[in-house]
Amino acid sequence: MKSAEIREAYLRFFEGKGHTRVSSSSLVPQNDPTLLFTNAGMNQFKDCFLGGEKRAYSRATTSQKCVRAGGKHNDLENVGYTARHHTFFEMLGNFSFGDYFKKDAISYAWEFLTSAQWLSLPKEKLWVTVYQEDNEAYDIWTKQIGIPEERMIRIGDNKGAPYASDNFWTMGDTGPCGPCTEIFYDHGADIWGGVPGSAEEDGDRYIEIWNVVFMQFNRTADGVLHPLPAPSVDTGMGLERISAVMQHVHSNYEIDSFQQLLKAAAKAIGCAHDNNPSLKVVADHIRSCSFLIADGVLPSNEGRGYVLRRIIRRACRHGNKLGATGAFFYKIVSALVAEMSVAYPELLENQAHIERVLKTEEEQFAKTLEQGLRILEQDLANLENNIIPGEVIFKLYDTYGFPVDLTNDIARERSLVLDEDGFQLLMKEQQARAKSASQFTVDYNSLLKVDTLTEFTGYDYLADEGNIV
Ligand code: ATP
Ligand code: MG
Ligand code: MG
Ligand code: MG
Repeated sequence: MKSAEIREAYLRFFEGKGHTRVSSSSLVPQNDPTLLFTNAGMNQFKDCFLGGEKRAYSRATTSQKCVRAGGKHNDLENVGYTARHHTFFEMLGNFSFGDYFKKDAISYAWEFLTSAQWLSLPKEKLWVTVYQEDNEAYDIWTKQIGIPEERMIRIGDNKGAPYASDNFWTMGDTGPCGPCTEIFYDHGADIWGGVPGSAEEDGDRYIEIWNVVFMQFNRTADGVLHPLPAPSVDTGMGLERISAVMQHVHSNYEIDSFQQLLKAAAKAIGCAHDNNPSLKVVADHIRSCSFLIADGVLPSNEGRGYVLRRIIRRACRHGNKLGATGAFFYKIVSALVAEMSVAYPELLENQAHIERVLKTEEEQFAKTLEQGLRILEQDLANLENNIIPGEVIFKLYDTYGFPVDLTNDIARERSLVLDEDGFQLLMKEQQARAKSASQFTVDYNSLLKVDTLTEFTGYDYLADEGNIV
């Protein structure tokens, strides 16, 4: 089945179960300052879960555009390293607003995945996790659905670890949340990785395909969980991950909708169309960047615009690594439009705009990228340990426009780490200088810089549980 067919089958299946098909919302959350970008199907229904908004339906189904490149769910630095993470992906979802709950949510998911009429997946390849204390969900899976206990795993909330399973789903630091049950597909013993909850679970053998959340609480800023007016359901299944399963491939990058993108990326860069992770990064990033621009985001030095800028610059650096000499990124947009504009017409409508924005941004960064990389090489040659000093990170950021995660990306490739504290100290000093300089009408700082990164308001905004993001 092609990705587009799987998307359609999913929506039709849930329409058949009384759900209203609702369009994807914008990647830029409406009226939700707590959220950087739309990161899950449930975002547009947040107020329905909280009880503040009533709609004409109590069941909905969507295929939602999502970006996870900052904030609570940040996968930017996974892209290129795992088979399953994208910055942009489509999340298939079904929702109950105080209508059905655990039993129906689980049996719908199971029916769609395994019945011969729908995806017909082999049951023995599916593994299930439930929240530690959720005996109700455990019993539904084992007694009603018939999953053998050997393929059932109980998992608690795992705070912090970027990959590890966490069966208490939260949208962000505040908002609707609750225990969840996740369905994993076993891609086979020849792929490294352990079952969920094991020490090797960050491998890619068992891939989480579907998360079914039992929305029961609203978490407020003080951390307190308040029961929702009515228990609800929110589910999310990554279209690219289920497509990989259905197309008998392991990596998301091998599915139909990525083939033309990878080919176009290789052509634009002038490199081989092979398995190089940098090529995957570029093919991934063209999707998030194009969709974000189509939804009205522009590269800038703060907030959402800065995240977009970081993704574009990361793509440029990976293209450069593959030998790109001039602006190449914008040339891939047409392949994306050809692939996805039937489902998302906004891509075609905004194609010229997207290309223009990307080209301008690329050309601007190209001026400092080569030079910054050269300086970095010199500094790395003189390292006495495996730590890149804060001054180097700061110089690259401030003078050459390298977002911190770009430097971190390079560090990771060479098994080096960043002196984050040192960098933050220099950032604070710079902010203080900028503040005292702002009493003058001319900003002398901006005149001194090659690239006009005068302030870094994005940093606090994006700080993600101690990680540099
Ligand atoms: P993982 O543990 O693999 O990082 P997750 O638990 O963070 O996934 P959820 O927040 O539960 O993911 O999102 C629901 C579903 O969306 C997942 O089961 C998966 O199929 C898909 N998904 C999540 N993150 C990504 C991503 N970065 N790229 C592609 N698909 C994703
Ligand atoms: Mg994740
Ligand atoms: Mg998970
Ligand atoms: Mg999950």
